[in-house]
Amino acid sequence: MTVELDWENLGFEYRKLPFRYISRFKDGSWDEGALTEDSTLHLEEASTALHYGQQGFEGLKAYRTKDGSINLFRPDKNAERLQRTARRLMMPEVPTDKFIDAVKQVVKANEDFVPPYGTGGTLYIRPLLIGVGNTIGVHAAPEYIFTVFAMPVGNYFKGGLAPTNFIVSYDYDRAAPHGTGAAKVGGNYAASLVPGDTAKDRGFSDVIYLDPATHTKIEEVGSANFFGITADNEFITPLSPSILPSITKYSLLYLAENRLGMKAIEGEVEVDNLDHFVEAGACGTAAVISPIGGIQNKDDFHVFYSETEVGPVVKKLYDELVGIQFGDVEAPEGWIFKV
Ligand SMILES: *Cc1c(COP(=O)(O)O)cnc(C)c1O
Repeated sequence: MTVELDWENLGFEYRKLPFRYISRFKDGSWDEGALTEDSTLHLEEASTALHYGQQGFEGLKAYRTKDGSINLFRPDKNAERLQRTARRLMMPEVPTDKFIDAVKQVVKANEDFVPPYGTGGTLYIRPLLIGVGNTIGVHAAPEYIFTVFAMPVGNYFKGGLAPTNFIVSYDYDRAAPHGTGAAKVGGNYAASLVPGDTAKDRGFSDVIYLDPATHTKIEEVGSANFFGITADNEFITPLSPSILPSITKYSLLYLAENRLGMKAIEGEVEVDNLDHFVEAGACGTAAVISPIGGIQNKDDFHVFYSETEVGPVVKKLYDELVGIQFGDVEAPEGWIFKV
């Protein structure tokens, strides 16, 4: 390890690392792509990514294991999701092999910045696909840039495994019923800035979004998926076409059922029936598993397990998931890719 950083207190912030990967799509095909030290993108002023939101992104992490090697967690699933996002926004797909190769190149080139095992830090990897080239009419771009950069990170929500509180949004939705909610696109995030900021001003970690058509069912927790645990040992997470399908969420559904012997259910989660749950959490690559202390729903403040302590089932799920990611717990077949 040649770099000295305060690995235990990284937070979730941009940091410029020496290398990133960039590839360009032109005349119907991707070029080979290469690492570069240039952290600025050069693109045409009439690029569709800038004007019409023709862009999508991904987020995944590299984990330093006890023996010093480096794990990626299900990067093939991120590649497939970026392909679905690309189809929804009429962008060319990045083949899975190209995606994984780019991620591995970036991790290897910046290997000294993968936080040491045991510090809680990880290397966050951000693949980005944008429409470029000059077009002013509303149609798909003639050319595309696929880039991957990375930075060491710590906790996304301040608390880490300490519960934080969220507030239900009735004034704003993040996505429309048949819109782009299930695609990982910047536009969904632009729509979430005002409600997110308002929630933080009021002392909450983020917003809980409801289903946009009826505002009766929970969809997402800001930029993470929601799950609840019932007294009957059920793991329940919302099912909706406008939720971003979290790879962490699908991993937890599998682990809850196959490792913890729970009943794992994707179904409706009514916001007026939170009493149904004894514990709740938010999950995602950045959020990992963040326990939800309480939810402000109109005038009602609902506390799950505790506002200050993580509940036993959420803790078990966390230990199983994070144990697999850092190589301390045996992974289901095909979940870990070595760099
Ligand atoms: C990326 C993302 C998630 C989490 O997905 P993971 O695959 O678990 O990282 C959840 N919600 C939204 C809106 C997202 O963009």
